[in-house]
Amino acid sequence: MSEPAVSLKGYLIRGLPIIKEGDDIPTLIQSLFEIEDGDVLCLASTIVAKSEGRMRHLDDYRPSSHAIEAARDLGKDPRFVQAVFEESSDILIERPFLLTVTHFGHIGVNAGIDQSNVGDEMILLLPKDPCGSAQRLSQALGRDCAVIITDTCGRPFRNGVAGVAVGWSGIAALRDWRGELDIHGRALSITQEAIADEIAAAANLLMGEAGDLTPAVVFRGLKYPRSGDDLFREKEKDVIRSRLNS
Ligand code: GDP
Ligand code: MN
Ligand code: MN
Repeated sequence: MSEPAVSLKGYLIRGLPIIKEGDDIPTLIQSLFEIEDGDVLCLASTIVAKSEGRMRHLDDYRPSSHAIEAARDLGKDPRFVQAVFEESSDILIERPFLLTVTHFGHIGVNAGIDQSNVGDEMILLLPKDPCGSAQRLSQALGRDCAVIITDTCGRPFRNGVAGVAVGWSGIAALRDWRGELDIHGRALSITQEAIADEIAAAANLLMGEAGDLTPAVVFRGLKYPRSGDDLFREKEKDVIRSRLNS
């Protein structure tokens, strides 16, 4: 007799409204789906950001001369470039696209600022502190569940976009395989698996990118470590920058 196959269920929650500032996402989710202990709830950063009032009008920004100059080369609106600068602690690449480090340590194109699913002349910043948001949301759900806040991002040296985790709570961002034995008994010495990103990518696959209106996914049946290391490489920022610019 072979062992039973391992299964993982992914539920795409339908019926969430257009989210506005102040909306109570945990209550909305719970009215549509019963979260259980051990579940992993993935939420598109878009809706978390909207509920936290992170929508801005482009006219909220006064572009600096630096932003105006960069915008000219990038073919972008200088107000948008100014918003990216203000959301960033560091600019890694300025041309031919803006790759920056957000104030919370995430590296992304345009500091993760979105112009889709937000309306004309409007932009949506990422949540200010996505791990803090994930923690608040998971506490409000009142379950022993994990919350991952996802964003669709480009990947270095590959075409196409994929979901990554920008915030997480109740789950380790990385699963540490170091010290585990491979099939030949050799101990792994380096492997740390970015499980929060892997789950975010799977969630993103179900959510869609356009007018689907499905920003929430629950995974059930996944065994995951509750605590572990961070995804953001603070100490390597300078190395990354010097390599990219050399
Ligand atoms: P991002 O990956 O976090 O930048 O979010 P996207 O803009 O790609 O949207 C992900 C999913 O959430 C898509 O299915 C969108 O249609 C949906 N979505 C975006 N905003 C809202 C909203 O306010 N309400 C609902 N119900 N869905 C939304
Ligand atoms: Mn986004
Ligand atoms: Mn997306």
